[in-house]
Amino acid sequence: MEKFDQELHEECGVFAVSGYTHAASMCYYGLHSLQHRGQEAAGIVSKNGKEFIVQKGEGLVTEALPEEKMEKLKGDTAIGHVRYSTAGGGGMSNIQPLLFRTLDGCMAIAHNGNIVNANVLKKELENQGSIFSSTSDTEILGHLIKRAKGQMIDRICDSLNKLDGGFTFIIMFENALYCIRDKYGLRPLSIGQLQNGSYVFSSETCAFEVVGAKHIKDIEPGEVVRLKNGKLLSKKYCKDTCNKLCAMEYIYFSRPDSNLDGINVHTSRKRAGMQLYFESHVEADVVIGVPDSSISAAIGYAEVSDIPYEMGLIKNKYVGRTFIQPTQQMREQGVKMKLSAVSSIVKGKRVIMIDDSIVRGTTSKRIVNLLKEAGATEVHVRIASPAIQWPCFYGVDTSTLEELISNKMSVDELCHYIGADSLAFLSIEGLRYTINTIHRKKDLCLSCFTGEYVTQLYDAFDQANKEVK
Ligand code: AMP
Ligand code: SF4
Repeated sequence: MEKFDQELHEECGVFAVSGYTHAASMCYYGLHSLQHRGQEAAGIVSKNGKEFIVQKGEGLVTEALPEEKMEKLKGDTAIGHVRYSTAGGGGMSNIQPLLFRTLDGCMAIAHNGNIVNANVLKKELENQGSIFSSTSDTEILGHLIKRAKGQMIDRICDSLNKLDGGFTFIIMFENALYCIRDKYGLRPLSIGQLQNGSYVFSSETCAFEVVGAKHIKDIEPGEVVRLKNGKLLSKKYCKDTCNKLCAMEYIYFSRPDSNLDGINVHTSRKRAGMQLYFESHVEADVVIGVPDSSISAAIGYAEVSDIPYEMGLIKNKYVGRTFIQPTQQMREQGVKMKLSAVSSIVKGKRVIMIDDSIVRGTTSKRIVNLLKEAGATEVHVRIASPAIQWPCFYGVDTSTLEELISNKMSVDELCHYIGADSLAFLSIEGLRYTINTIHRKKDLCLSCFTGEYVTQLYDAFDQANKEVK
């Protein structure tokens, strides 16, 4: 049987621009700055008059879209996608944007996130005669829109009302672009504007800096924004919305220079590090962060503890993230290639090692070992997020229940397993505090920490074939 997470979990980045002479080139730069959201594949669909041109490939943006492919992507509107899938969910047919050529014209869709009721909808659609050409659930929206009746914006809203889950979509038609955020606000999507007045759309605001755009606003939960003839129109596809942006976007996913719902990611991570100190401080000589996503938290911890922050670990930037390696052995090898401990900094020292999260435990175990081999006398691990005990069904690969080490072990057991002298996680209240105090009205998705899911799960847990705790 195909494993659940092989088919459904995707983490991605989407970018679009309209009304710019070299739209695909700008899209390329936008995708490049979203590269941290997906390194397995990338694609761009551009629109040149009525013609839709698609170019895709596997690997980093620079590998997937070399010059000879980029030259073909003519036109003043383009949408793009970077993809980060787990093993088995790859393959050319799943690389986005997906392009549908119909008798009424073309439609291209780029999608970030996961539709929880995908299987239910797929079954219904197949029973009605639809045939799917990929295992990606993105295709579902294309089929639903095609079957719906009325004005395009109503067809899109009707279709979105059938979907449940965490998602953002960018859809390109001949005469308009539609940008969508799910009704829970789980996944982020923002609008920026170029100096010439054209609009750009991006999963993260860091891409706006790169392309020279000014941030205009974040798309709201349940909002559909249409860009047609240079003008934006906004409509809510559903009244019943809430604002539960994924907490992992702050903790791990987003780039430190991005702002999510007006909160800077680096700042929230730094505050998480400070909070970690207040919750579980320990005597030590140096504070180090696991590069890159834990540096901000380590700086925060060091600042309030008065223990110096040092560069005790060096990252080889030219190795992909450990997570994308499909086997445990390959992942462990990946960690070895990726990080080195600096013995002149840690030798003879009591070290506080800050990491953003523990998923399978591979990274922490390996780093504690590296630091001890390099001469650290004590290694105290502090994690700038609560323990991840539950799988994510909203588009983030936090692995299956079985693989999540905090689902299987208590903090003490895990401390022993990773070989640390002490281990502590940030509390859920602490995490809320680090993000909420700046913006009090904000709520968050915390499902992978609490097991209280934001949406219904339909058959998702059964599909995963895992027992619910
Ligand atoms: P692990 O070795 O499985 O415990 O992985 C933990 C490391 O993976 C942490 O240092 C994080 O920086 C990173 N990480 C956390 N969540 C994810 C995710 N959903 N996808 C990829 N990497 C992640
Ligand atoms: Fe993010 Fe966790 Fe919620 Fe998934 S379950 S959307 S990873 S906070």
